[in-house]
Amino acid sequence: MYEQVHAVDPEIAEVLDLELARQRSQLEMIASENFTSPAVMQTMGSVLTNKYAEGYPGKRYYGGCVHVDQAETMAKKRAMALFGAERANVQPHSGSTANMTAYLSFLKPGDKILGLSLSHGGHLTHGHPVNFSGLLFKAVHYEVDRESETIDYDRLREQARTERPRMIVGGASAYPRFWDFEALRSIADEVDAILLFDMAHIAGLVAGGVHPNPVPFCDVVTSTTHKTLRGPRGGLILSTKEHFKAIQKMNFPGIQGGPLMHIIAAKAVCFHECMQDSFKEYAGKTVENAAVLADALLEKGFKLVSGGTDNHLLLVNVTNKGLTGQDMENLLDKVGITANKNTVPFDTQSPFVTSGVRLGTPALTTRGMGPEQMKRIASIMDRAVAAKDDEDALAGLRGESEELCREFPLYGNLT
Ligand SMILES: *Cc1c(COP(=O)(O)O)cnc(C)c1O
Repeated sequence: MYEQVHAVDPEIAEVLDLELARQRSQLEMIASENFTSPAVMQTMGSVLTNKYAEGYPGKRYYGGCVHVDQAETMAKKRAMALFGAERANVQPHSGSTANMTAYLSFLKPGDKILGLSLSHGGHLTHGHPVNFSGLLFKAVHYEVDRESETIDYDRLREQARTERPRMIVGGASAYPRFWDFEALRSIADEVDAILLFDMAHIAGLVAGGVHPNPVPFCDVVTSTTHKTLRGPRGGLILSTKEHFKAIQKMNFPGIQGGPLMHIIAAKAVCFHECMQDSFKEYAGKTVENAAVLADALLEKGFKLVSGGTDNHLLLVNVTNKGLTGQDMENLLDKVGITANKNTVPFDTQSPFVTSGVRLGTPALTTRGMGPEQMKRIASIMDRAVAAKDDEDALAGLRGESEELCREFPLYGNLT
């Protein structure tokens, strides 16, 4: 594998080999990760990386853009068709830059934004003080309800009435429930705010028809392309025709320089893959797997934030198991399961310790795993907690995880 890298740089080639081996032999349950297709990876590694193409198709600041223009035009058309959007900008380098572009297309520094708190499932770019979004704008946050651990839209409405934000930001990185876009739209209308929804986590579920689509309700929708959407690492902005001009200008020359044409072409491949029936099936199985995993964990006495899941992820509060999120992350690592510690709503632990772990099914579902494997994984987790100080038992469980991985080979014919 990676022969050409081996010939030039054996040290980095070894990193690539080891990472491939790691991905093959561990149960990948980080909710924001996935295994993109060989076609997407081949496009990312193509000659398109050599091309400068500042500007937009037909309006570039460089010559020789005839072919990359075609790739970008196709990526845009496919993104619009996939999500039913009036307009698409496929140039953002990442989810974070997509958000920066979207904010600055509508807001001036100092304007007020209202987003979900990071510790209740939101994202750093939704106004956290250490992030540009919190530094540049006056950010206020909504939270989930203490009892239901879901968003209380009546409370959000009251908060919006009091705060009068210029923009309301929906979307999350650790929220296991459906969003109510009608409610968000009605709240935004009532206080005359712009409505932005960041669907970074759930875009693939929206594309696959297993999560409601925010696009018809929002002024602007941002996303990543590498999470449930299973494409190259990158960002995306969808908007109405009315707001598109401002977004185009803010993306370039406002924030970014030359677009990553190899990534944009790979986004086009990703969108094409997402339009196939096989992807709808994938999205459905991802959600089904999360539901099965949730039920199996509940049966074993694990506590789930909001009591379950509607999407691809679950948030497990491990306090009742006598563990912190950090303990659980370490324990899962020992038994061959990769996941991340995560704060739970109203967490009393620090963000470095936390009381929870976030588990996602997108990557395992791509490997072909189904309900039976989810039940086995819940059992491995349960037995790992029971045997947390017994290194031999944990090694045995790690063997079980590796066996599961062998049953569902990854990148078997990667060249
Ligand atoms: C992952 C994520 C982002 C950031 O995407 P990057 O590509 O990592 O910059 C933004 N918003 C949400 C809700 C996310 O989950």
